[in-house]
Amino acid sequence: MNMDGKKILVVEDESVVAMHIEESLRKLGYAVCGVVASGEAAVKKTEETIPDLILMDIVLKGEMDGIEAAGQIREKFNTPVIYLTAYADDNILSRAKLTEPLGYIVKPFNERELKSAIEIAMYKHEMETKLKKMERWLSITLRSIGDGVIATDKDMHISFMNKIAEEMTGWKSEDAVGKNLVEIFNIRNGKLENTEAVEKLLLDKVLKQGVILNLINDNLLITKDRKEIPIEDSVAPIKDDEHNIPGIVIAFRDVTERKQLEETVKFQACHDYLTELPNKTLFTEHLNIELSKAQRDNKKLAVLFLDIDRFKTINESLGHSIGDKLLKQVSASLMTCVGETGSVARVGGDEFGILLSDIRHPVDAVVGADKIIETFKTPYVIDGHELNVSTSIGISIYPDDGNNFEDLMKNADIAMDQAKEKGRNNYQFFNPAVNVRTLERITLENRMRQAVERSELVVYYQAQVDIATRRIIGAEALVRWLHPEMGLLNPVQFLSLAEETGYIRTVDTWVLRAACEQNKAWQNAGLPPICMAVNLSAQQFQLPDLPDTVTRVLKETGLGPQYLDLEITENVAMKNFEFSVPNIKRLNKLGIRFSIDDFGTGYSSLSYLKNFHIQKLKIDKSFVQDITTDSDSKAIISAIIAMGHNLKLKVIAEGVETEEQSEFLRSMNCDEIQGYLFSKPLPADEFRQLLIDKKWEVSFRSRNLLSS
Ligand code: C2E
Ligand code: MG
Ligand code: MG
Repeated sequence: MNMDGKKILVVEDESVVAMHIEESLRKLGYAVCGVVASGEAAVKKTEETIPDLILMDIVLKGEMDGIEAAGQIREKFNTPVIYLTAYADDNILSRAKLTEPLGYIVKPFNERELKSAIEIAMYKHEMETKLKKMERWLSITLRSIGDGVIATDKDMHISFMNKIAEEMTGWKSEDAVGKNLVEIFNIRNGKLENTEAVEKLLLDKVLKQGVILNLINDNLLITKDRKEIPIEDSVAPIKDDEHNIPGIVIAFRDVTERKQLEETVKFQACHDYLTELPNKTLFTEHLNIELSKAQRDNKKLAVLFLDIDRFKTINESLGHSIGDKLLKQVSASLMTCVGETGSVARVGGDEFGILLSDIRHPVDAVVGADKIIETFKTPYVIDGHELNVSTSIGISIYPDDGNNFEDLMKNADIAMDQAKEKGRNNYQFFNPAVNVRTLERITLENRMRQAVERSELVVYYQAQVDIATRRIIGAEALVRWLHPEMGLLNPVQFLSLAEETGYIRTVDTWVLRAACEQNKAWQNAGLPPICMAVNLSAQQFQLPDLPDTVTRVLKETGLGPQYLDLEITENVAMKNFEFSVPNIKRLNKLGIRFSIDDFGTGYSSLSYLKNFHIQKLKIDKSFVQDITTDSDSKAIISAIIAMGHNLKLKVIAEGVETEEQSEFLRSMNCDEIQGYLFSKPLPADEFRQLLIDKKWEVSFRSRNLLSS
């Protein structure tokens, strides 16, 4: 070490010793910047000369001894001190230690001892100063870098935390130090949901194995006041010279802005910049997802391909800026039209794709297309221009017109071209047959919705006859629709449509009322009272207020409940067992009877039947009609009758067309019969005549007389 020019202050109250030291120092090549004899003088001289080293006698005469003087000097000037001591007790030495001296020289000493003590002391001082500088520099760096930094000890207790870490976690360093890391650095990650998992990972990987965990994304830092900040962090073990890991250090940064940017980029990648609607890419994705759902649930989907009519003309005559504004407004109105039921995308310049999921019938797509065409009828007002715009729509249906994105889009596009050819401002299905069928259906549906109001529904009545006495004991009410163009329609021609659209409930309620009214009217006219059987659809039967409706109708028409018999099919009854039983019970209590219609075609279980509180089984006509040809049918009929009687139920057979069938049923002890043999379903006045004439009894008697 080069000691040239180093200034040394000598503090020694024995002048002989002082002189000796001074002389030795000069000989050794040091500059002596002063020789003083008291503590006070040492402090003063230090201030004046700023020595590089002080040789300080511990025991000094005067108020201030060497230790105290050294203490003050260290504190003020950080000047290194070597104590000179002739003797020292433990007490003095431990006091001296506190002032962090750089060495002791025991008097008397020779030059060589002095030289090496000074050199060691100066070297130590230089190292210490460097270290302190480095430490200061490090701590400034840690405090001033933009990342949060947290360090822990080997038990994962926090030992350090910089300003950014304080700000981000919401914890003050003084409160956090000593606390468990995971309490302060509380993070959540998609993969590691709880803090224990995070803690275990840090313990195992970083503290035990010494692994550096670099740049962990998608972590959320939960702040002290429970806010969530997306962060990116890295964790490293702190290693000492012996390769121990006395702690870990975590650096982390707030990536909120970057995340937002990523979101924006992601959004822009799959949305149209102008209208902010999904673009073709996202539309494809949506459609594929919905396609697999539809496939799984066996449902239909509609894809609408929509093009604004004459958009090019608008763009060219009024300018692109107006064109752009129009596209935005059109997008907004399409979104309103489609609402929750589907999704809209801009798939080309003036082309839009619409996906309608979960449709029951192509008609549902028509409802959407109609709504859009209707919306376009209101002119768009843009920058003072009133624009009358229309649109042409092509529709393809999954699975009928394709089972993948490309086919469905291509076919909807073709259909759209057809709509353009047909004069624009309309929609077309890809499959022309669907156009026709849908049109027919829509016309029928619209017409049907008005059937009740326009009094187009009629009830026909079919006699139910006691097999033993051959008297009419009841009638079944069977609905007909007198269509203004198509004539008299049977239930098969319109009931399935009524069921799909829910109109069946209106039909059923209307028939119930009409039939009860009619029955009461016949009774009022003095005809023998009969029981009226009315069919109930599945939907009507499931209505919780069915008992109330029936009660109200009976009250309003004045018909006694014993003259009403409600028919439900086997399947309807079975399907809604928990529902059926209480509903039937309530109606039974009112005195109304129940029959199971089309019996034998469903899957009744005997034990269920017992619980049903029904009064009658109605053998389906298919068995009756096969009696003469099929021995199985005979067996089934006799079994149904026997079973019905065992359960104390009446049994009626429907569709009886011949004497042979009637005779067989009588021989099997069937209770009642209904069918063309006696009477077809008749309009009310003809049925009334039947009741008056007792024609059937006459014909039966005459037949009997003839045969006898
Ligand atoms: P259903 O209740 O089993 O009615 C018996 C059907 O068999 C009636 O057909 C009747 O005309 C027919 N039929 C009666 N006797 C004979 C016969 O000897 N031979 C043949 N081949 N057929 C016979 P309809 O009137 O066409 O009714 C068909 C079905 O429509 C009914 O079957 C019933 O399920 C339903 N329906 C009729 N009216 C209503 C109603 O007001 N509401 C509800 N929900 N359904 C109704
Ligand atoms: Mg029936
Ligand atoms: Mg039937």
